[in-house]
Amino acid sequence: DDILLDVQNIKKYFPIKGGVLKRTIGHLKAVDDVSFTVKKGETLGIVGESGSGKSTLGRVILNLLDPTEGKIYFNGQEISQLKRKQVRPLRKDMQIVFQDPFASLNSKMSVAELVEEPLLVQTSLSKSQRKERAIEIIEKVGLRADDRLKYPHEFSGGQRQRISIARALIMNPQFVICDEPVSALDVSIQAQVLNLMKDLQDDLGLTYLFIAHDLGVVKHISDRVAVMYLGKIAEIAPKKELYENPLHPYTQGLLSSIPVIDKSKKQREKIKITGDLPSPANPPSGCVFRTRCPKAHDRCAVEQPLFTKKADGHYVACHLYT
Ligand code: SF4
Ligand code: MG
Repeated sequence: DDILLDVQNIKKYFPIKGGVLKRTIGHLKAVDDVSFTVKKGETLGIVGESGSGKSTLGRVILNLLDPTEGKIYFNGQEISQLKRKQVRPLRKDMQIVFQDPFASLNSKMSVAELVEEPLLVQTSLSKSQRKERAIEIIEKVGLRADDRLKYPHEFSGGQRQRISIARALIMNPQFVICDEPVSALDVSIQAQVLNLMKDLQDDLGLTYLFIAHDLGVVKHISDRVAVMYLGKIAEIAPKKELYENPLHPYTQGLLSSIPVIDKSKKQREKIKITGDLPSPANPPSGCVFRTRCPKAHDRCAVEQPLFTKKADGHYVACHLYT
């Protein structure tokens, strides 16, 4: 079986407290009925603007948050209902790389301490074994062995992200959630870090869930891409299919904002998305995208669009296709 991660109907609702009694007066639907699978060795890109629920989804998968509903299977084992103690052995198999390497690295720890910390906590390796393993992984991410003795502030943003990647990979995980790992970096550095991540994936047989806020970033690295909007997946497809034949008006809008470099490619109809993301505490009725959709029609306000299969692996939730 080549499915590594199977996410089934995951919901994550956060209670909203109000009034003098601080009672629950509503729910913020951060993730609202999301399902997908990720195959071994694959990269699934998850794209959505801030507030779409993509980071919350990542944290639910990592067991950092409990889902309100739904099930998650990792290597065939259900992991969404595990007790804290049972989560520990999973920790080495599932890792995360965060957006802001400076915020996520303790500045008082040397690179050696940062990278070796997971080994210290989760293995019984000796000091010299830890050092040997740390040097191996530090060199793998393109830093020098003697960089071990430096501190995060002595590095550039791109190098700090390499340190976070080394820390995530030192336990030899199968699966890495990359939560906007290049969003805080200069455009010129982004490609270097993305290429490194791609090389590491091939070299180590990693599986990635790659979270980003625009379709440009995930284009190179992803095998398939899911577009999220207000806690739901609007469209999911193999990469080529999604970029060449986007069906959901939201996906079309996101793609319209990426400049077309290849002039021989036919220009798509430009879809402009205006307005702000509605509050996940009070999502629109029917289709959650309808308040910003240039193609919204009567049905969209009253009926929630269901996922429809339009091609192999290509699913879309929009009334234009049902
Ligand atoms: Fe737009 Fe309606 Fe499709 Fe939603 S269902 S994306 S509002 S056309
Ligand atoms: Mg986020």
